[in-house]
Amino acid sequence: MSDTFSALVIRSTDDGQSATIEQLTDADLPEGDVVVDVDFSSLNYKDGMALSGKARIIRSFPMVPGVDLTGTVVSSEDDRFAAGDAVILTGWSVGERYWGGYTQRQRVRADWLVARPESMSPVQAMGIGTAGLTAMLCVMGLEDGGVTSDRGPIVVTGAAGGVGSVATAILANLGYAVTAVTGRPEQHDYLTSLGASAFLSRDEMTSPPKPLEAETWAGAVDTVGSTMLAKVIAQTKYSGVVTACGLAGGVDLPATVMPFILRGVRLQGIDSVQAPTDLRERAWARLTTDLPTSLLEDLTTVVPMSEALEHGAEILAGRTRGRIVVDPNA
Ligand code: NDP
Repeated sequence: MSDTFSALVIRSTDDGQSATIEQLTDADLPEGDVVVDVDFSSLNYKDGMALSGKARIIRSFPMVPGVDLTGTVVSSEDDRFAAGDAVILTGWSVGERYWGGYTQRQRVRADWLVARPESMSPVQAMGIGTAGLTAMLCVMGLEDGGVTSDRGPIVVTGAAGGVGSVATAILANLGYAVTAVTGRPEQHDYLTSLGASAFLSRDEMTSPPKPLEAETWAGAVDTVGSTMLAKVIAQTKYSGVVTACGLAGGVDLPATVMPFILRGVRLQGIDSVQAPTDLRERAWARLTTDLPTSLLEDLTTVVPMSEALEHGAEILAGRTRGRIVVDPNA
């Protein structure tokens, strides 16, 4: 790579923020112990919020956004990594508090990195990215709660989004019956191709629930929150597990305790940002076996870094499908 490289830089302005591609040098990069040449980053809901400037995601300016990246180590001052290693970074407030993946080169902390599994290509790694890792953690949360495929169907909310698409594909591949909740009936064919076998509309699932509704789900992956999460909890079977990871529909939870105290329903929060490294490594290893590569390809769209802003607006509007990989080298 030449001395300069391209990065998307968000700067604070009098009326908000501006995001432009700038030419940087290594001297511009933040402190850290590992320099990485970035192959790909991705676009997550949180990136959409950071790029929009509406939600206060970015904690300091200037900021290189992008909550995840994969690439090759250029140099390392930490014994755990050496030049040439393929690595993945997700979470740890990168792209919020620390500079992230929308750049051709980044300097990061070794503690934030995991090795990219050998069988996983760079574009596959970011096709999964933060959202896919979160989906895997949700599936592992269901398994930890004893939800096996013979216990009944799993409901996935926000199914056509990033987390929802990957969760649908993994669960179906593992033999679970998946009911997909989507606000976009035009995505039914896509979700069927990922393995969903039944559908519910967003409207059906956002009517305020009774404290207890018919026992329907062995488990759930909820990316939406608010009334939809309350509805899912009220419909979960005895001893079922609801994994909650998202807030695409709101941060509140208008529920009652009845499903918990009368049905032993478990509400399992899922956080990928500060998940410990050993859990991440187990999840990435699972993703090499439990997510068919053909489905991953079907749910992935690659866009150049120069188009990140417009796709950021689309993800906030709920108009993107599956996972968007951001290519800083295009
Ligand atoms: P996406 O935008 O790709 O997916 C969200 C989906 O939710 C949309 O595609 C849409 O699905 C549905 N949706 C959007 N708006 C609404 C609404 N108002 N009411 C109901 N459903 C809605 O985002 P991601 O998959 O990247 O992230 C999903 C959520 O998970 C986000 O809230 C994100 O912040 C969170 N997240 C949490 C992580 C963690 O560590 N806990 C890590 C990664 C993400 P459809 O069109 O099918 O209805």
